[in-house]
Amino acid sequence: MAFEGFSNFESALRALMDKLDFKMEEPFKDVSKVLCIEPHPDDCVIALGGTIKKLVDEGIEVVYLLLTDGSMGTTDDGISRHELALTRLQEERDSAKLLGVEKIITLDFVDTELPYDREARKEIVTIIRKEKPEMVLMPDPWLPYESHPDHRRAGLLGIEAVGFSSLPNFNRTDLEAGLEPHTVSAVGLYYTHKPNYFVDISDVVELKLEAIKRHRSQFTDEIWELWEPYLRTISLYYGKLGGTKYGEGIRFVPGLFLHLCPFYDLI
Ligand SMILES: [Zn+2]
Repeated sequence: MAFEGFSNFESALRALMDKLDFKMEEPFKDVSKVLCIEPHPDDCVIALGGTIKKLVDEGIEVVYLLLTDGSMGTTDDGISRHELALTRLQEERDSAKLLGVEKIITLDFVDTELPYDREARKEIVTIIRKEKPEMVLMPDPWLPYESHPDHRRAGLLGIEAVGFSSLPNFNRTDLEAGLEPHTVSAVGLYYTHKPNYFVDISDVVELKLEAIKRHRSQFTDEIWELWEPYLRTISLYYGKLGGTKYGEGIRFVPGLFLHLCPFYDLI
């Protein structure tokens, strides 16, 4: 193999990126299924509702993997955890339907207590092997100031599960059950402060907000008064970075760079 291009870091990096199957400019090329991992029932739509709608319209299947039951998401003392979990799952189904998402897989960990352990990781690996998505999306676990442990853990667990799902000796029970190791070519991190890809959602932003509002237990009229401007501001921020009015930002990381890489911060 020739390494002529490898005279300095910049040219080496360009040559290396060329060798990857994953192309940063066309991340969804050759993708037929996306698995979107969310810690709570409203995270996929809040982060990526516009992108999801557009992917579905292009014929790409989007499947949600909901990690927790959402049973802590209330300040109302009169509603039980069980009741709230059921309400939130129904809201999630309605919201997903509006974007064209049909399938929601639930793992039912307790809201605020998503464990960061091998059992949780194994369960996500099994789902990746069952669903065989080419791309997996999850929260950016390194978002500065993110206070919710479920969000940080969902990001880490998702990245780790992608890393391990291709290893046949990891959770061999899956193989004994007839599943095969599965390689995901890239992950996309949402709720990120370092996006390297933008989707123009100007034409679907109102639909996105409508789909978010289907989570009625989370967005009462009073809460919406502050959250609508918050969500619009976030969309305008990503839009500004991406050169459109409203936008969503994703940080894509090709599988190769999810291990050992000291320079991915630059990309
Ligand atoms: Zn959340």
